[in-house]
Amino acid sequence: MKDMKERMPPHRRTAAPPQAVPRGPQVSRRAFALAGLGAGAFSLLGAPLARALAPIAVSGVRLGGGAEATRLVLDLAASPSHSSFNLADPYRIVFDFPDLDWHVAAERMPAPTGLIRGLRAGLFRPGTFRLVLDLSGPAEIARTLSLPPQSGYGWRFVVDLRPTSRDAFMTRLGRDPGAPQAAKASEPAVNGRERRAGGAKPVIVIDPGHGGVDPGAIGVNGVYEKHITLAMARQLKARLEKGGRYAVALTRDRDIFIPLRERVAIARRAHGDLFISLHADSNPNRSTRGLSIYTLSERASDKEAGLLADKENKADIISGMDFSEESPEVTGILIDLAQRESMNLSAQFAALSVGELRRQVRTLDNTHRFAGFAVLKAPDIPSVLLEMGYLSNSEEVRLLQQAGYRDRLAGSMAHAVDRYFDQAQSAQRP
Ligand SMILES: [Zn+2]
Repeated sequence: MKDMKERMPPHRRTAAPPQAVPRGPQVSRRAFALAGLGAGAFSLLGAPLARALAPIAVSGVRLGGGAEATRLVLDLAASPSHSSFNLADPYRIVFDFPDLDWHVAAERMPAPTGLIRGLRAGLFRPGTFRLVLDLSGPAEIARTLSLPPQSGYGWRFVVDLRPTSRDAFMTRLGRDPGAPQAAKASEPAVNGRERRAGGAKPVIVIDPGHGGVDPGAIGVNGVYEKHITLAMARQLKARLEKGGRYAVALTRDRDIFIPLRERVAIARRAHGDLFISLHADSNPNRSTRGLSIYTLSERASDKEAGLLADKENKADIISGMDFSEESPEVTGILIDLAQRESMNLSAQFAALSVGELRRQVRTLDNTHRFAGFAVLKAPDIPSVLLEMGYLSNSEEVRLLQQAGYRDRLAGSMAHAVDRYFDQAQSAQRP
């Protein structure tokens, strides 16, 4: 698909996001450059920056999602700094921006949806543009994102809301809108990017497929996929932790069933920067063998990839769960935004992995494939699914049961992770 071909910085998550340091000189310099003014023309340090900045033009407002997760998107000419606070009775979340040049006519304002039952925008006072979200109930900011121009969109400022309790809502009440630092400090620290700005380690989430009531594929010798994936997950975790560069979380560290949706939720709660799901396949043709790696696509790259995704996605049915309601995170507008970026980053990591793995183990032709795996649908975490080999092949199942063979796989994956984050860091250098 065409988006996969676009060159993206491998990983922007480690960059200090504009919203994390709303008034810092670095961000302001960036904003100058984006506004086309040129940083060299101004003495930045010590200048009243907010006043010097040209207002950022806003050309569109969009809403999406539902009552469990609502997304607001502003289309802008540059990345804005902001602060936010709550007002109660009725419930509102208020965003203040330095200044915005609002070009959205009333008739082009979106219809209310989900947690947002009304939207008002206007200049609050000189230098402060205010956006008020009228809420249908107590809600909180799950995250904010500034997405750079891509795929025909310009800059986008994205706000994700989720329901919360009245008590939790009231703790963010009544912040002085003139004190963005205070408002900032009270925002939930849910965004991995923001934490990264403080120098924290990238978080790798490893997801051993299946578990508990769901054995996964069953090998010709009776071995269960769920045991091989867990063994591999522990080895990969050890490999990644050895260098001290990453924090590593597992979606499960014992033989237990975890719904697919919950695996994604675990990764997001862990503020994952990279999600690696581990699986092994089986095939009626017992001579089939070789490793492959998958990233998310709305369309499968081939028939086998589509069938495999169907098979892996049945984990929740196998366990007797009702999975008829798809996660709100993967619906509608969300796929167009953060997920599109995540898909590009996922494809980049998959390509690096293929390069490393090919030197060590047998791979399938077209080693990197695409399909609609439910477990890869975190909209904001680059994610891959590694099919380590075929348990239906007597030689490959024997290898996958060997700790030494799995360690070779783990070593290759760890190299790929290193290269991925190396690229991200070099992309951030000026
Ligand atoms: Zn599997």
